[in-house]
Amino acid sequence: CGIVGIVGNQPVAERLVDALKRLEYRGYDSAGVATLAEGDIARRRAEGKLGNLAQKLAAEPLAGTIGIGHTRWATHGAPTELNAHPHTTDRVGVVHNGIIENYRDMLIDLAKDGYQPTTQTDTEAVALWVSRELARGAQPEQAVSNTLKKLRGAFALAFMFRDDEGLLIAARHGAPLAIGYGNGEMYLGSDAMALAPFTSRLSYLEDGDWAVITHTGATIRDAKDAIVERDVQISQTSA
Ligand code: GLU
Repeated sequence: CGIVGIVGNQPVAERLVDALKRLEYRGYDSAGVATLAEGDIARRRAEGKLGNLAQKLAAEPLAGTIGIGHTRWATHGAPTELNAHPHTTDRVGVVHNGIIENYRDMLIDLAKDGYQPTTQTDTEAVALWVSRELARGAQPEQAVSNTLKKLRGAFALAFMFRDDEGLLIAARHGAPLAIGYGNGEMYLGSDAMALAPFTSRLSYLEDGDWAVITHTGATIRDAKDAIVERDVQISQTSA
């Protein structure tokens, strides 16, 4: 339901939760954040309100200067902690809004190579698919590009990678996403509200776009993988 991401140079976990709070108006049943610290993707997730997630983070803080966060409105799989996003493998973490219509077919294909889901979500098929691409030797950009071509449905996605603490990849296909430009930091959000505390300089992805986001900027490609320019606008939404 709500997506946030930060490629930062300061700790991100609390800031991700603050940004998610600004997406509460959209409704949700559970929430989670993942960061990259000491070479591993680590996450905290909780059923119910963001206060529950904040409590978990207070008890077990997450270090890390890059991360993704999500408020979930369950469509596939009960609203439990197990099914809450981010979904992760040993290589990749993903948050997802919307529905992957062909996730069952994807899981059948993945099972042939021994990739088994641990949740009831459609989203986990995406995490496993990207993971298999990476295991086969694809770089993150190629792994995501290959995966996006496989997906059916309306969705927005954000990925982080175990092996790159300066990289997020985001994709928009029927559900909105905005990129925020900071000073040495970059942000991602499902709307301008989420990004208002961080920056007022935003680019909206157009349908079919996907973006490679680093500390210094974003390279945006369209559905045919051609590099495109999207206007940077000054958002009037105040923090
Ligand atoms: N289909 C996904 C799920 O049920 C994402 C739902 C959402 O947009 O929050 O986990």
